[in-house]
Amino acid sequence: MRAAITGGAGFLGSHLCELLLEKGWEVLCLDNLVTGSDSNIAHLLPHAKFRFARQDVSRYIEVPGPLDAVLHFASPASPPDYLKYPIQTLKVGALGTHNSLGLAMAKNARYLLASTSECYGDPQVSPQPESYWGHVNPVGPRGVYDESKRYAEAMTMAYHRYHGLDTHIVRIFNTYGPRMRLNDGRALPNFLYQALVGEPITVYGDGKQTRSFCYVSDLLAGIYKLLESNEHEPTNIGNPQEITILEFAERVRKLVGATTPIVFHPLPQDDPKQRCPDITKAKRILNWEPKVSLEEGLQRTYEYFREKLAQSTQAK
Ligand code: UDP
Repeated sequence: MRAAITGGAGFLGSHLCELLLEKGWEVLCLDNLVTGSDSNIAHLLPHAKFRFARQDVSRYIEVPGPLDAVLHFASPASPPDYLKYPIQTLKVGALGTHNSLGLAMAKNARYLLASTSECYGDPQVSPQPESYWGHVNPVGPRGVYDESKRYAEAMTMAYHRYHGLDTHIVRIFNTYGPRMRLNDGRALPNFLYQALVGEPITVYGDGKQTRSFCYVSDLLAGIYKLLESNEHEPTNIGNPQEITILEFAERVRKLVGATTPIVFHPLPQDDPKQRCPDITKAKRILNWEPKVSLEEGLQRTYEYFREKLAQSTQAK
């Protein structure tokens, strides 16, 4: 079995490369390294079944040889990243999805789209089931990500319905774990970094907004099951344990044993007030549910960040 993974040098992409290699697949990792990093895949390069090609998948994708699966994970995914690269974000969601679908068609391969809970926008229903159509501001700053992923879902369903392509769509909720960038800008990397270096912990707004954090290995286990399933409609994968951002900041501060204060910064525009996956469908059709507790996942991520930080201080 041979898979192409776009965005394979990113946080989720690199874990996915690793998982498929473990399962005996041959893996071709495609990434233009805009937000991904070669350090995420350096340990995979010696593997006989792993190959990396630096490619921008918003342009025509050329892959020699057969493929059994195409998994489209390329996209900036942290709010500061997609604000920094708004056009690339729209392009990789639109053109990158079209090109990767075309690649799957040409190779007669299965296809999996990494979509997002951002499709639900600032939801007025909680928890969010797949049947909820969402509440998205298409022209706000987050619109570049939300709308590109909504378009990507529509394009994927069109390839399934019109061309009969074997497609799958995962709606990924907040995920965390090793290989998130220290400067990624999302809540957990910011809080961990700040607590570790003794800077004030920045909570945006009053911190009463909620998120539900899923540990990366749980997410990947669900995604692999979805890839092997006969399900074509979007499927939520995430951890339904909901927590306020203020509580989350306090958990991280306690874990690190930091004494730095929590400071409040303005809430970014269109920041969702609540987010929690309804995973009834994934439980039913995939027999999947998350296993790693927030305590355990945070501990593992903390150890990774501590080591990364030590390496980067040594390098200076
Ligand atoms: N957030 C925060 N401080 C930070 C970074 C993020 O309070 O330093 C908040 C952000 O406003 C949002 C939540 O944490 O309400 C999760 O943000 P993140 O960027 O991780 O991802 P999102 O779920 O918004 O896509």
